[in-house]
Amino acid sequence: MKKHNFSAGPCILPKEVMQKAAEAVVELDGIGLSLIEISHRSKEFVAIMEKARSLALELLGLEGKGYSALFLQGGASTQFLMVAHNLLKKKAGYVNTGTWSLKAIKEAKLFGEVVEVASSQDQNFNYIPKGYAVPSDLDYLHITSNNTIFGTQIKEFPKTNVPLVCDMSSDIFSRQLDFSQFDLIYAGAQKNMGPAGTTLVVVKEEILGKVGREIPSMLDYKVHISKDSMFNTPPVFAVYVSMLTLQWLKDLGGIAAIEEINEKKANLIYSEIDLNPVFAGIAAKEDRSNMNATFNITDEGLKETFETMCKEAGISGISGHRSVGGYRASMYNAMTIESVGALVDIMSELEKKG
Ligand code: PMP
Repeated sequence: MKKHNFSAGPCILPKEVMQKAAEAVVELDGIGLSLIEISHRSKEFVAIMEKARSLALELLGLEGKGYSALFLQGGASTQFLMVAHNLLKKKAGYVNTGTWSLKAIKEAKLFGEVVEVASSQDQNFNYIPKGYAVPSDLDYLHITSNNTIFGTQIKEFPKTNVPLVCDMSSDIFSRQLDFSQFDLIYAGAQKNMGPAGTTLVVVKEEILGKVGREIPSMLDYKVHISKDSMFNTPPVFAVYVSMLTLQWLKDLGGIAAIEEINEKKANLIYSEIDLNPVFAGIAAKEDRSNMNATFNITDEGLKETFETMCKEAGISGISGHRSVGGYRASMYNAMTIESVGALVDIMSELEKKG
């Protein structure tokens, strides 16, 4: 039985994407060779990379607007330092909304002054700070759109004249936004896009080339742009599967279509959390993430029963992160509403037992 996969990442991917990816590992599109044994300079792979890059821009509505899409390596964690290396000349602002923001701040400090513009650390990051002022002399402002660990999500983005950089690792392609408000977006593939191994970077070219420092080639966005994201051997499998997932999303009707499904899934689980006295949500209601729902069990005595029931029903990956505890149900794009329903059924059954 295929399990209901609530893992926070790497995580669920569309079934048809995994099937096609598995076939391509044996033989890519009838060419007599595997995807992972051909040159990245072959016409087949060059076409895959180009399609992945153009689908990313198309789905985000950023085609022809001065942006470049890159599929890089080193995870979103390398972007913590690459952003600062390429953009931080004197002073950058960071909104501190969790573990990943903190890690981004730590790396940026190696390159210049970092101002923590706002923070929700006072309440273990269970809310999104609001109403803060953004200094106008920043080289950029860095935010994290969705906090995977704590289950919070920015609903209203800061309005600012400085370049806006966003870590969208855990909610990219999940909801409609005016993506042109961001000057640089990055996201590890392993949630809404593909397997671990590549990171999507979408950057507005005009913000680059202003720091006046030498940047090693592998860390220089301009180098990667000039080489069409093929400066060195790219992670071919991760890029291929990302391309398939982006094509799957496009065929489904794009971000507008998936947003509707994601809202239904989130409403289903959050209404159960709110109505069922056995459970309590962790994140502030107005800041709840549609991707990662975090919750506690109010009656510790029911913990074991709940976990056994989940196991028997094939519910997988709902343990909360160690820094938060409780439970976390991650409901990325590929998760069906039926799977969320299976979890909600158990939650309501547990209430009857309690
Ligand atoms: N940012 C966010 C919001 C994340 O959720 C994660 C990983 N879960 C990261 C950054 C780090 O990504 P990576 O492991 O690809 O470096």
